[in-house]
Amino acid sequence: MLTEFDLIQRYFTRSTPDAVLGVGDDAALVRVNEHMELAISTDMLVSGTHFFADADPFLLGHKALAVSLSDMAAMGAQPRWAILALSLPEVSEVWLEKFSAGFFALANEHRVGLIGGDTTRGQLNICVTIMGEIPHGKALRRSNAKVGDDIWVSGKLGDAALALAHLQERVQLTATEFSTCVPSLHQPTPRVLLGLALRDIAHSTIDISDGLLADLGHILKASRVGAEIFFSAIPISSAMQSMHDKKLIQQFILAGGDDYELCFTAPKTQRTKIEKLSLRMSLPLTPIGHITAASGCIVHAQNGQPIHLEKSGYDHFR
Ligand code: ADP
Ligand code: MG
Repeated sequence: MLTEFDLIQRYFTRSTPDAVLGVGDDAALVRVNEHMELAISTDMLVSGTHFFADADPFLLGHKALAVSLSDMAAMGAQPRWAILALSLPEVSEVWLEKFSAGFFALANEHRVGLIGGDTTRGQLNICVTIMGEIPHGKALRRSNAKVGDDIWVSGKLGDAALALAHLQERVQLTATEFSTCVPSLHQPTPRVLLGLALRDIAHSTIDISDGLLADLGHILKASRVGAEIFFSAIPISSAMQSMHDKKLIQQFILAGGDDYELCFTAPKTQRTKIEKLSLRMSLPLTPIGHITAASGCIVHAQNGQPIHLEKSGYDHFR
């Protein structure tokens, strides 16, 4: 069966000479004028696939915009405008009041204007298109990683997958542990300011929406390079540290989706700048490995042995 990415490649990827960048990155780029480019991206959240049908509408409004803002962050774009397409099973004013409050709380924080959309009846389905500005030539593409670059991640990885596993009763967390990791799942923080700051620092950037290995894999493929990463260097929460099942932990950290942290590569000469940026933003930025000339990604466990996963990330069709 075709994977999600084979499908996009085969049926929807065509040459787009009038665009600066077409299908294949976190956002498309089009030239607006001599100085500016517009980054444009769309993301759909489907009830039963991306969230539970009875999900808290305020948090859903937040998350619908957050995942789009995260794509702007991954391009180094300043988000400006959003378009919201909604299909709703019924008109519930209580639901709409809370959903729109969650959406606008985040939109206002980032000064993003909702400039249009579409509303129809159907299964609950939320689609946000976002547009942001980038000075010409400054976008952070997946395709520009260089051999020798450090690989960095923001924040901590795997909490969204851990919280989801708890809700699905695949693991059991204490109430405190759950409360510390559930915001990553329901209320992720898009790293917009980090993306902007990385414009002059990083070679390539992606946001982690399908799992670290899958998303880093997109950088490696687009840049035609490989990577070596060190599992024990990957920052994790205390809730994750308290887990005992080693295989499951590896799965959550390396292949858990939905963290919406940034993974970026930067030359070693930028280390001090990145460390200062981390302090200034009060956001952990951690080097976890480096880009190599060989193809593929090797993950070293603490004992030096390579780690192999059954599934390296989320694919809607696998
Ligand atoms: P992200 O996880 O950053 O939102 P995706 O993995 O959803 O990106 O998509 C990968 C790339 O494929 C993006 O450039 C996206 O715009 C493009 N893409 C996805 N679905 C389609 C489609 N149906 N038609 C055209 N392009 C698509
Ligand atoms: Mg993305």
